[in-house]
Amino acid sequence: MTQTLTTGFTMTIGGKSVAGAGGFGVVNPATGQVFAEAPDCSREQLDQAMAAAKAAGVSWRKDEDARRGAIKQAADALLTHTEDLAEVLSAEQGKPLKAAAYEITETARWLAATADLELPRTVLQDDASAYAEVVHRPLGVVAAITPWNFPLLLAGWKLGPALLAGNTVVIKPSPFTPLSTLRLGEIVASVLPPGVVNAVSGGDDLGAWMTSHPAVRKISFTGSVPTGKAVAAAAAPDLKRYTLELGGNDAAIVLDDADVATVERGLFWGAFINNGQICAGIKRIYVPERLHDELVEALAARARSVRVGAGTEKGVQLGPIQNLPQFERVRGLVADALDNGAVAAAGGKPFDRDGYFFEPTILTGVAEGTRIVDEEQFGPALPVIPYRDLDDAVERANNTDYGLSGSVWSPDLDRAAEVAARFDSGTAFVNDHLALQPYLPFGGSKWSGVGVENGPWGLAEFTELQVIYRNRK
Ligand code: NAD
Repeated sequence: MTQTLTTGFTMTIGGKSVAGAGGFGVVNPATGQVFAEAPDCSREQLDQAMAAAKAAGVSWRKDEDARRGAIKQAADALLTHTEDLAEVLSAEQGKPLKAAAYEITETARWLAATADLELPRTVLQDDASAYAEVVHRPLGVVAAITPWNFPLLLAGWKLGPALLAGNTVVIKPSPFTPLSTLRLGEIVASVLPPGVVNAVSGGDDLGAWMTSHPAVRKISFTGSVPTGKAVAAAAAPDLKRYTLELGGNDAAIVLDDADVATVERGLFWGAFINNGQICAGIKRIYVPERLHDELVEALAARARSVRVGAGTEKGVQLGPIQNLPQFERVRGLVADALDNGAVAAAGGKPFDRDGYFFEPTILTGVAEGTRIVDEEQFGPALPVIPYRDLDDAVERANNTDYGLSGSVWSPDLDRAAEVAARFDSGTAFVNDHLALQPYLPFGGSKWSGVGVENGPWGLAEFTELQVIYRNRK
């Protein structure tokens, strides 16, 4: 059967809707079929977007109150599109419609909260000899590059603070999920002066063109570790500033006094939300030997009861894996674990249907040295690893190049917080995981990132300091 392609998606450049120089297909992961065409941005069009952003910055940087108002307007405008945007997001990303709508309302909430952030001028000296203050200045044009797991929320994390700080933006989504961001670009740009936000789409090459473009002064990147390293290298010749939000291999450590019935739900959804395609999700669980079997059984029961299906099916809790390479990766990691002695307490293979559906999988009999424990699986498969000695568990949790977050689970909050503080990670949770908020700085240690997003700290990363010193002598 030939499917009619949804067309008409355009880029936003200098306040105008612009068709691509060419186009590329977007796959619905619930069917594995191309369902829409996205515009493919040429180098000339990228130059136009950069020139528009640069020109718009001249007046945009002047009026902070106007910027706050415009960001709030953008948040409101976004909310009026929750339903239609959720359909686009669900179709291209795979997540259930309800989760897609939630991503949109969260993006609006984040934008609105960001609009209220402050970076005050600080007086450093005020005496007979001098008056000195330090102020935050915008950097200029920001290149914002996002991945396919939360295209809109992660775009919002960049747009809000970049704009509030007085910068202008060219944003590029993943080629796997370009459509919702193009729509977001249109919606946001409709309440802003032309050129302040430009949205373009294309392949990975377009990202590389952006990071080496002379107009760009700051790169705000979310994606994988290898691409993050390429971004840092591309930024170096021009000393562009950058923030990198990269991958994770978060550990959850269950303490020996934990009640399995109390913690299993939080552990499960801390790992499987968004089908495990979340940078700061639980990627491995360490559990005392005594509680291992009980926890595995509880997680497996939950994994078996989850409703998996197309985002448009009623009552569905998890969708397909977002794209074919990622589906093959998860399938390969699970197969490798099973070949090396692991046991699937639940799941372990793809569903027998079209699209990229994989059974929620709980693995036991697996430890460090197996790929699914050592690498970031970024999918619906979770290894549960027994431990005898808590210090040893902490050491194993930290024995990775990643350091996004980690969690400790116990009714004894103080003891758990002491253990959590030992994670080499940007965030350490107690009895929770993924409790992200607009006022909490989010970032990674080691290879999980450089810099942070969110809160005044994230906002500051879109600025540079200037000291203004008046000699009074
Ligand atoms: P990816 O690195 O393949 O792609 C991310 C973005 O970078 C895409 O828009 C892509 O087109 C672009 N890109 C590719 N090559 C580029 C280059 N050379 N220069 C500039 N841009 C380039 O990542 P992905 O597969 O889309 O996303 C999954 C990864 O993202 C996972 O590792 C996940 O952990 C990570 N992630 C991190 C966070 C976080 O906040 N830390 C959040 C979500 C996802």
